[in-house]
Amino acid sequence: MKTVRHELVVLGGGPAGYVAAIRAAQLGFDTACIDENPRFGGTCVRVGCIPSKALLESSHLFEEANHRLGQHGVQVDGVQLDLETMMARKDKVVETLTGGIDMLFKKQKVTAYCGRGKLRDVNSVVVEGDEPVIIEADRILLCTGSVAASLRGVEEDGDRIGNSTAALSYTEVPKKLVVIGGGYIGMELGSVWNRLGSEVVVLEAMNRIFPGIDSELANLAHRVLKRQGLEIHTETFVKSARVDGKRCVVEIQDGDPIECDRVLLATGRRPRTDDVGLESIGLETDNRGFIPVNENYETSVENVFATGDCIGGAMLAHKAMEEGVVCVERMAGMHTHVNYDVIPAIVYTHPEIASVGKMEDELKEAGIEYNKGVCPYGANGRARTLAEPEGRVKILADAKTDRVLGVHIIGARAGDMIAEAAAAMEFGASSEDIARTCHAHPTLSEAVHEAALAVDKRAIHTA
Ligand code: FAD
Repeated sequence: MKTVRHELVVLGGGPAGYVAAIRAAQLGFDTACIDENPRFGGTCVRVGCIPSKALLESSHLFEEANHRLGQHGVQVDGVQLDLETMMARKDKVVETLTGGIDMLFKKQKVTAYCGRGKLRDVNSVVVEGDEPVIIEADRILLCTGSVAASLRGVEEDGDRIGNSTAALSYTEVPKKLVVIGGGYIGMELGSVWNRLGSEVVVLEAMNRIFPGIDSELANLAHRVLKRQGLEIHTETFVKSARVDGKRCVVEIQDGDPIECDRVLLATGRRPRTDDVGLESIGLETDNRGFIPVNENYETSVENVFATGDCIGGAMLAHKAMEEGVVCVERMAGMHTHVNYDVIPAIVYTHPEIASVGKMEDELKEAGIEYNKGVCPYGANGRARTLAEPEGRVKILADAKTDRVLGVHIIGARAGDMIAEAAAAMEFGASSEDIARTCHAHPTLSEAVHEAALAVDKRAIHTA
């Protein structure tokens, strides 16, 4: 078998891996990046963030054309769904972005290897594939990401009963779709198929949907999504799901079995660390399969590092990218860091939900005194012109210092608006700092300004 040598080998070409590889190359490391899939970009670009957002956008436009353009005086008759074109557009977006990573690798001189990578020892990885190769390296960075978790009793066939990957490529609109799990993946993809005409039933074991989101916003979102037609059952435990002839049957505790055409299992993700050869270098995971690391992203084995979904924490692409960058910058002796207190999180339903920093529930639980400023979208001129009056911005600031502790937004384009809050928090801003910042008119960001004013009870438009 051919043996090659690089200074750094990155195992996994998702957001953690490909970004780390590019940054490492910029810093002068001779870098290789391995992925089993010829299209680099990982879960995020191939079967996660990007295709789901492409479908959310297309299905939103379909919904607008069907039900909402009339209020703008735009009459559209005979709106029809062309699912094949919608899916082809999504695939094209994915193809363009994965192609972009190939170009970046070439430009930055990152050597890409395609095939399953397995650790041989602390200084080498074997890449299985058409042309197997052993890569020796001074340092190894593990970015093997995560896969959808399974659920006991749910018999996945990868098609009628499957995970998010299957739900991104249904070839026809299911008449009835049962979504198991009311987290962001289930609610986003449930929204897509609901907009395209499915009867969607969401089954969530906990007493609320969106478990990781500020409960005030989650409750509001629950109401809005229900109004949009999603049937949501909380405190509902799924016992089993199986294909039965032409139908799927989902059995729940304390209720009648539910028949449907398809089942989307969206109960979370688990780290992909069981088939990487960790045992060959004596690297142990924690009891949930995550790889423990220190602040330099070093594992317990010298010169072996790990970042992204496989180390746990928020399983988000931007968190993975930040870690990848900081990890290799620290290898280069730089003193950069990831501020885990300021990682935004967004749900791309309509309305969007975006959060950064502490949730109100967390502050209450920790006994931290805070002031709260709220601006409803209805008081914002731009929201009215967009016909998007449903939503609110909530700013939570420390009662003594006024430092912003958390910002939570539900409403149109909340995902873009949260960037201002994240930047402000990164600079340690007070709500007064945001209140003193001139915000352009008429923009949705004025609702952030107004909420900051409201922290000090001097809001103008919601006085
Ligand atoms: P991954 O993206 O999982 O990449 C790991 C890569 O390593 C994969 O390509 C895998 O094939 C490869 N690999 C693993 N083991 C090996 C091996 N032994 N040999 C070779 N290759 C290997 N996050 C957001 O921030 N925003 C969103 O809107 C969002 N939406 C999502 C929607 C869905 C439906 C899903 C499933 C996820 C979404 N996520 C989103 C989460 C996001 O995709 C992940 O957090 C992110 O991809 C993690 O990056 P990573 O590099 O750690 O791992």
